[in-house]
Amino acid sequence: MRDTTTSIIEEVHQRHATTMDGALADYIPELTRADPNHFGIALVTADGQRYAVGDVDVPFTIQSVSKAFTYGMALAARGSAAVEERVGVEPSGEAFNSISLDPGTGRPRNPMINAGAIAVTGMLPDSPEQPRFDHIRSTFSRLAGRELGWDREVYASESATGFRNRAIANLLCSFDIIDCPTDPIVEDYFRQCAIQVTCTDLATMAGTLACGGVNPITDDRVLSLGNVEKVLSVMATCGMYDYSGTWVYEVGLPAKSGVGGGVVGVLPGQFGIALFSPLLDEKFNSVRGVAGFRDLSRAFDLHLLRAPSMSKHAIRRRYRLSEVGSRRGQPDEHLELLAQLGHKVLVLEIQGDLFAASLERVIRALATDADDVEVIVLDLRRAGATDGSTVGLLRGLASNISSAGQRLVVADPSGVLTTDAFDGLDVELARTLDDAMRRCEDELLVGAGRAPSGSLRLDLAEFELVRHLSDHDQARLLPRFVEHTIAAGDVIIEQGADTDALYLLSSGVAEVEFTDPLDGSTERIADLYPGVVMGELGLLGQGRRSATVRAATDVACFELTREELMRLRSSDHLVYTRIIEHLLVTTAERLRRANREGALLRD
Ligand code: GLN
Repeated sequence: MRDTTTSIIEEVHQRHATTMDGALADYIPELTRADPNHFGIALVTADGQRYAVGDVDVPFTIQSVSKAFTYGMALAARGSAAVEERVGVEPSGEAFNSISLDPGTGRPRNPMINAGAIAVTGMLPDSPEQPRFDHIRSTFSRLAGRELGWDREVYASESATGFRNRAIANLLCSFDIIDCPTDPIVEDYFRQCAIQVTCTDLATMAGTLACGGVNPITDDRVLSLGNVEKVLSVMATCGMYDYSGTWVYEVGLPAKSGVGGGVVGVLPGQFGIALFSPLLDEKFNSVRGVAGFRDLSRAFDLHLLRAPSMSKHAIRRRYRLSEVGSRRGQPDEHLELLAQLGHKVLVLEIQGDLFAASLERVIRALATDADDVEVIVLDLRRAGATDGSTVGLLRGLASNISSAGQRLVVADPSGVLTTDAFDGLDVELARTLDDAMRRCEDELLVGAGRAPSGSLRLDLAEFELVRHLSDHDQARLLPRFVEHTIAAGDVIIEQGADTDALYLLSSGVAEVEFTDPLDGSTERIADLYPGVVMGELGLLGQGRRSATVRAATDVACFELTREELMRLRSSDHLVYTRIIEHLLVTTAERLRRANREGALLRD
């Protein structure tokens, strides 16, 4: 099947590929050698998927797109306070090469115009062990996920003609913004602009910003989240020079362009996008780059300020333990007791991202309708991302739950929250929802004076199947059982085998696993606890075993073989009938419970 994402990008590419409006940058003579036909679009998703259409592997010089990344480097090297002291964050509304300095302090307006960018380069450490440009090139290489070279001809060409940038550097020096002599700084700035990238490289670099500083292809953390936030802020307000206002209005993404023809845009948390086409408009932004971005933004609904409304269903399901229990098999009396007491445990299954707006709904749901509950279980299995508000809100919720005399159990199997999220608070963490449910069930059972399910040890006469018979009937039946002990890990019932016996689990825990005959994958579907009857389905249905039952711990059980059952049928037909009747009734009850749970859990 054709990939739809690529088709949409191809359509945008086709629409603008023949536009020959604009001109090559010629104030750096070497840039006029670019091929005006070149046009590439690349997109990298937050999970590292790449889409590429057109001339995405053609090398070109990064030019001003570099400014966003050196700004991030300076914030990391010097700290934001030191950087802000020397370079502002206000849009200048002027061209990229304007001499836009604060009249009093000499501070450049922002780091996205040349004056600010040269000041930023001047702030990067430079030492014989690690020359500044090496540091820049190696950091850019990490951002792109491959070793980047640089174009010495373009550099030499700019160095030979870059009088205006030298003048700006000298002004910066006169205001003590950068060190004198300024030549080493300006030359490194020219080299930085001459770093060679492809459209794919730029999309990966933008993708790294989209992922909060982690390269989505290599998983390398290159910048911190806090610094990425600052970089994206100035990109949003100043990245397209004196076109920045219109850009945000029409495209709505933090962006940066360069006179080499590259433009990058970032949709935080989602995409890094790069377009490359060397023909520039009068504001020195790529003509096809701007037009293509406008179309992509519309096609993929990328405008940052057009946030989709939050899913209405932050709470996917809400139920009590009386309605749906754990997945373990346990004696019917336990199940009955849990059906009576389970209303004390409320389970909320959360879905989607745990942001303030979604958590507010969870908090509201608990505040209005959980007064009669003793335990609240938050099931985070389907929870998505977190942000800076998540832990604070959940901690607040946890302490309110505690002060209401209730308890909070959090099931977070995929580790959405860090393990220390609830440090110092009375919150129980469970590995899985089923673990949480078992724990709650055991507490309810113990509270009602029963032993927790796992620790039971039953005599044959204690099983409901036997207990409901008269003494006379029991005496006919009991000698037909044989007691077995099975070591942890051994198989009790094998999927696909003939059904030849019924087992009563006396002690220990057994696990039921199902192997998919199509792909051979095995899944653990339930655990069985003492008091349950195993293998009755096969015996009643007379088919092959539908799943494997394996001893999870050392297990003791009583076996009644089909042969013995048949003998019982001939010798004591009534006892046989009573047993079969009992099995049918309990199986029907279990099926009824499963149907109820299934209806509740259905999507
Ligand atoms: N090296 C170029 C310059 O300083 C970068 C400008 C740009 O890409 N807008 O003039």
